[in-house]
Amino acid sequence: MTARHRSRRRELVESIAQGAVLLSDDGQGFAINEAARELLAIPEGARARTAEDVLTHPALAEAVDDVLDTAQPVTLEIDRAEARLRVNVSMLRDEVLVLITDRTEEHRVDELRRDFVVNASHELKTPVTSIQALAEALSVVCHEQPERVPELVGQLGDEAARLAALVPDLLDLRRLEERGPLELASVDLAELVRRVVANQIDRAEDLEVGLVVDVPSEVEIPGIVGDLQVVVRNLVRNALTYNRAGGTVEVRLRTLDDDDTVELVVADTGVGIASSELPRIFERFYRVDPARSRATGGTGLGLSIVRHAVENLGGSVEVASQLGDGTSFTVRLPTVRPATAR
Ligand code: ADP
Repeated sequence: MTARHRSRRRELVESIAQGAVLLSDDGQGFAINEAARELLAIPEGARARTAEDVLTHPALAEAVDDVLDTAQPVTLEIDRAEARLRVNVSMLRDEVLVLITDRTEEHRVDELRRDFVVNASHELKTPVTSIQALAEALSVVCHEQPERVPELVGQLGDEAARLAALVPDLLDLRRLEERGPLELASVDLAELVRRVVANQIDRAEDLEVGLVVDVPSEVEIPGIVGDLQVVVRNLVRNALTYNRAGGTVEVRLRTLDDDDTVELVVADTGVGIASSELPRIFERFYRVDPARSRATGGTGLGLSIVRHAVENLGGSVEVASQLGDGTSFTVRLPTVRPATAR
């Protein structure tokens, strides 16, 4: 191999934006660019002398052998360090070109989506199966034990309500995820909080939970009315649901001293959440107590929707809780249009 050949190979590899490695067909001579070095986690300064030093991943080494044997291009995905890489191996005249792209983020999104479909199907299947079973039972019972009909009709109604509750939450999530650039409008968050809380008063009375609201007369922020309503509604609804008779829910809103941030706190004196569960409660479909959540019409989606909506607006949400004593959610939102808003 001539020096000219080697330098041409280096130039070619360096001109490629993706990770690229070019190997001679005997596997001895090669060139690698910086992107490939990073993606393949070859430490800086480590001098790789032969192709084997570079292609330490067995599937990758095998793909190179296959391409040398058959001259047919091969595409494969490999895990390297924390990354998921897509590797394309093909012949380039008498050399082997390995192109590497980082698919970690796409892979993560694919997995989330796959999990979501599996979980959503499971959540839908449970009430649907119950409805089918109840409908069959009804067709028998209405002839043989007509006195049981009201009980079964009641159960049928509960299952249908459960199914119906899932649909708006699924639509909220989809809307939040698939929206393009945000169109923010000036929203009076104080007024919005008062309205949402007012809609929960009947429920609070039924549950015998006191509602305390401490909100200034007006707090303008850039936002989206529908999303902010969902955030406040889900937090207040949970604070009431995971409470007990005689408990309270406090909803406080204030502008922080820097004037750049508003803080909404929804604090309850309810059942609380064990610290080991806290990291998971914002996950989709995660419930600390599935039986209680189902019994109260929960979908396990409320907090994931809250977090999504708040983060879309450039804000954050935090939780603090004491098992048995109560829980407090703190949402912070910028008062000026955030650069991070999509
Ligand atoms: P769900 O529809 O089940 O309420 P969420 O996503 O809103 O789903 O909440 C996830 C889980 O977090 C709930 O199932 C519940 O176990 C717990 N949780 C949420 N808010 C509270 C709260 N204020 N107090 C105690 N537990 C809560």
